[in-house]
Amino acid sequence: RPERQRKPDWIRVKAPGGTGFAETRKLMRDLSLNTVCEEAACPNIGECWTKKHATVMILGDVCTRACAFCNVKTGMPRAVDPFEPEHTAEAAAKLGLKHIVITSVDRDDLPDGGASQFVKVIEALRRSTPDTTIEILTPDFRNKSMAAVEAIVAARPDVYNHNLETVPRLYPTIRPGARYYASLRLLETVKRLDPTIFTKSGIMLGLGEERLEVHQVMDDMRSADVDFLTMGQYLQPTPRHAKVIDFVTPQAFDAYAQIARAKGFLQVASSPLTRSSYHAGDDFAQMKAA
Ligand code: SF4
Ligand code: SF4
Repeated sequence: RPERQRKPDWIRVKAPGGTGFAETRKLMRDLSLNTVCEEAACPNIGECWTKKHATVMILGDVCTRACAFCNVKTGMPRAVDPFEPEHTAEAAAKLGLKHIVITSVDRDDLPDGGASQFVKVIEALRRSTPDTTIEILTPDFRNKSMAAVEAIVAARPDVYNHNLETVPRLYPTIRPGARYYASLRLLETVKRLDPTIFTKSGIMLGLGEERLEVHQVMDDMRSADVDFLTMGQYLQPTPRHAKVIDFVTPQAFDAYAQIARAKGFLQVASSPLTRSSYHAGDDFAQMKAA
């Protein structure tokens, strides 16, 4: 059996536990909601859930794709839960979230890729917690009509996030169901349709990418007018997933952050444990105050 890879000392996470953690878990169970925190085996779950920060994963817990880095189950998903929008809104209210991140599995089986469910969730959140800012992290809606993305943009989330995940050279092995330029075009389209929506994207490091390739991804994002960037260390969820090629040092993450700021991103989060939704609310509040 392949062995788990040893992590360097700078990857230290808080163990799950405590009242906040238990309450967050119970609420998600009671409302039949899935979270990417659990499904993706996020290393920050101990810290985030203790503070009652959770990222809801809508449209079920089974994905129609199988990316080599991702822990989410793959297969034939179940029918969409009609109560999910209201349950998500209830969770946001009970957790007292000032900023909520909503993501989903990929639903290549649905005619609109699940876009209408994103719209319903945004509408339910606006009704129940109008002061909560909304960040959505969507699939690429590849091979779907542009109407899917247009409908989500028209629902006016505060932040539209879509991750490029890695450099284009590694797509065939790491993100085989996706196309780099299609993802980039999605981000560009969102900004063109509504320039008041902040756009955000991110990549994982440690998959074998070269420094100059990372710089190129930053340039590509900026040419699509992406506002916020996240960069974090890829960690292998199980030995069946893609191997970590290297553990990028915290200093190298800082150096990337400096370069990214110089390239004009409004907000950059770059550290080994940075994830798309890690401290997303704090960062967004700071950015708005600045
Ligand atoms: Fe969940 Fe995001 Fe925190 Fe990870 S970083 S535990 S996915 S909210
Ligand atoms: Fe995971 Fe998203 Fe890839 Fe599905 S599309 S396997 S949820 S990263």
